[in-house]
Parts: sequence; C-alpha cells; structure tokens
Amino acid sequence: MNAATEARPSPRRQAAAPDFGPAGLDGSPAAARAAAARAARAAVESCPPVSPFAEPPAIPFFPGPRSGPAAARRFIVHVDIDAFFASVEVLLNPALRGLPVIVGGLPHERGVASTCSYEARRYGVHSGMALRTAYKLCPQAVFVRGNYHLYQSFSEKFFRVLRQATPDVEETSIDEAYLDFTRCRHLYPSFTEAARALQARIERETGLKVSVGVGPNKILAKLATKKAKPAGFFEIPPGGEEGFLRGLPIDSLPGIGPKTQVLLRMLAIQKIGDLWGLPRGTLHSIFGLGGDDIYLHSRGIDSRPIVTSTVPKSVSRETTFLEDLWDKRLLLAHLAYLCDRLTLALRQGHGYAHVIEVKARYADFRTEVRRRLLLTPLQEMGEIYRIAEELFLPLYHGTRLALRLVGVKASDLVRARPLPLFEAYSDKPERLGAAVDTVRGKYGFGAVLTVREKMLDAVYPFERDRGFVLKTASLTR
Ligand SMILES: [Mg+2]
Repeated sequence: MNAATEARPSPRRQAAAPDFGPAGLDGSPAAARAAAARAARAAVESCPPVSPFAEPPAIPFFPGPRSGPAAARRFIVHVDIDAFFASVEVLLNPALRGLPVIVGGLPHERGVASTCSYEARRYGVHSGMALRTAYKLCPQAVFVRGNYHLYQSFSEKFFRVLRQATPDVEETSIDEAYLDFTRCRHLYPSFTEAARALQARIERETGLKVSVGVGPNKILAKLATKKAKPAGFFEIPPGGEEGFLRGLPIDSLPGIGPKTQVLLRMLAIQKIGDLWGLPRGTLHSIFGLGGDDIYLHSRGIDSRPIVTSTVPKSVSRETTFLEDLWDKRLLLAHLAYLCDRLTLALRQGHGYAHVIEVKARYADFRTEVRRRLLLTPLQEMGEIYRIAEELFLPLYHGTRLALRLVGVKASDLVRARPLPLFEAYSDKPERLGAAVDTVRGKYGFGAVLTVREKMLDAVYPFERDRGFVLKTASLTR
C-alpha cells in the first residue's frame, strides 16, 4: 500500500471513492492506471469475500414483478447462424464441406475476411482480419468474394421462420436475433421444447446450422449462445445463473473492451465471479457509468425489452474501390450509384432522411465524414445526390491523397414527409420513385441509370437484377 493511501485513516471513505492520489500526478497514463489499480485493490481488500448469491446483495438478482401473471420468469431465446456467409457458400457448393472457407475476397486483394468457417478458425483466422494475414495463417483455405444479395435472401428466410414462432423478434444483425416467448405461453406447453423445435425448423428450412441460447433476459441468453456454439443448444435453468456466470471469462461480458480488461486483470479479476466482490461504487469510480453496467451484467441483471420495431435508425451504402481512386468523375459516379442504392432502400422502408452523411477514406486509411441536417426530410435520389456531392467535394479537394472508400448514409429516418406550410404539396418525388421501381422491376435494375452511374460500366461487371457488382457492398439494417 502506498504512502497516499496510508495517509487516509478511514477505510470506508477509501472504498466508496478511491483516491488516485499523488501517484498519478506525474500525468503519464501508465502511472494513473497503476494508481487506479492500487486504489481499487485497496478497496477490494477492505471488502470481505462475497458471493452475491449467498447473501442478499444491494440489488436482488433477476428482479421481476412480484405477483400477477407477469411475475413469471421471461423466456428469452437468442439465435445466431454459425459462420453465416461461409455456411451459405458450403451449402451451395458441397465440395467445400470440411474445408477452411474464408469469405470477403481473394488472398491477394485488399479488404478483410467477413466470415470464416470453423475449419478456418482453427488456424487462428477470424472475421475482420486482413485477407493477406488470413492467407499467411491458412494458405490452403478456399477464398470466396461473397455474394451479399444471396446472403440477404437467406437472412430473409431465417427471419420469416423466427416470426412464425413468436411475434416478439428483435433483429440485431443479418444473422442474429432475440425472441421473447413469454407472451406465447398458451401456445407452447414447454418453452424449451418450442425453442428446440425452432432450431430444428430453421435448419430444415434454410439448410443452415444455428446456435441457440436460452435465458431469462437478453444478456444471459446471448452468453448461453456463446456456450452453445457451434450448432448447439444451451439453456440456463432457473437457479443455474450463479454456476453459469461464475467461471466465464470477463471479456465475455459486453462492454468489457481491451482497456477495461487490462485494468481488471491488474486487480487479479479474470472471471465474472471475481467481479462480485467489487462494490458498485468502486466499479463506478473506476469506469464511470460503464462500471454500473459491469456491476449489473456480471450478476446477470438486464431489464432491456425486446425491440420489435422494424423502422431502421439509418441506412448506409459504402464501397471500397478495386484500387485507390483519384479521378473525380469516377468518384462521383460511385457516389451517385451508392445514392441510388440508398434511396431504393429508403423507398422500400418508407423512410425519409433528416440527416445525410458522406464518408471518405483516404489512401493512408484516414477517414473523414461530413454531414448535413435537413429541415425537410428527403427520399428522392436526385436531391440526396445533390447534397451528397456538395458534402463530398470539400473532402476531395481538401487532400492530395487518392481515396480507397466512399460511403453515404441517411439517418434520423421518419416514416412520412411533413406537409409544407408555405408551398403547394406535391407527391412528384414519390411518383417518380415508384415509376423507376416499376420499370426496374420489369426490365432489371440497369433499365434506369443516370449518365453519371453509367460511367461505372467501364469498371464493374453488371448483372440484370443486382446492378453493378461492387467490390464490397455493405449491408445495413
Ligand atoms: Mg453468426
């Protein structure tokens, strides 16, 4: 114990608010971290070892309504497709079965692996890894560029099956969802059987393996899925929460990133069970609001509801180029095409955007973003492109570097366009959009393109229904 903490006689005060003391005053982050760790350690040592399950803690575990029909424990199911993109590739080409498969690009290409099969993971390859690195680790892997439209159609089938089991489905990504079975208690004599039947049904109808985790809330269900992977089923039984959580590594909790992990490891905290000895005040004083989350999550407390709303928060489209680009006309052609795809998604989702944002990534990987708030929300391609171009040009002129990526994003979406106060209302933008969609539905996406977009003919292959096949098409929900 250092001089700073010895000088303070009251251990109670120490525990409530660890004082980082003069040790951190030299200003270096390492010294401040060490001081924080020492202070927290002192706080830990001043507390007797506790199991929050043995004695009633400050906040009860798994609090819920005390009486009435809602007093029942919630039944939350988390479903996640295993190695989604790679599994679709294997499904369509059975010759790949049992081989390491990496989706995202070819080994010599720029970009990252978006999914890899479990066989590839054995070599240390993981999603988000640069393709070249993946190739070094696993040169015998089969590299596939991937077809996002295809994955999207599998995803739609997956969610259709989920919605037949319960109306309370929350989509968290293209291949992952939470389901709440609690309201369906009159449909299912046994929730566990229903969840197992759902797993079998997804596998039967999509051909893809999924992992399923079951718990009384979202956080426990998701942790159960991690345990179930790959292709397994794991349910945390009532009363089994303590045993389940105790031995899990701390990084399995959401919100515990590398920095938090370093600090916790300095306190000799490796497992979730080790966290239970830390008072909430101590965690709060070290990590701020994040500390409160750690305190609650480590005890399996999570009252977040299932959010079934299908209105997306934002829609974005971006692409990395085949090689770095500096030609202004070609860059604007990409931007126009991305705006076209974006406004198509807005029309399909009946969304109007209050905020338009343009992103540029330069050859040195620096990323810049410009955004504009609109008084009247927009959906029409021409208007959105005009704003995107105005936002993009300063990004282009402000550098001498070539660009490796552009993107456009529409956010703060609303469902309806407000009526204008001082001008005549016109539904021309909607009618124009609908007309374009009708023609494209009949003759293919390429039937209506702007002159600017047509420039991409020289760069990318074109498919009748998909349009230009860009290097990386982003998918957002
Ligand atoms: Mg997955």
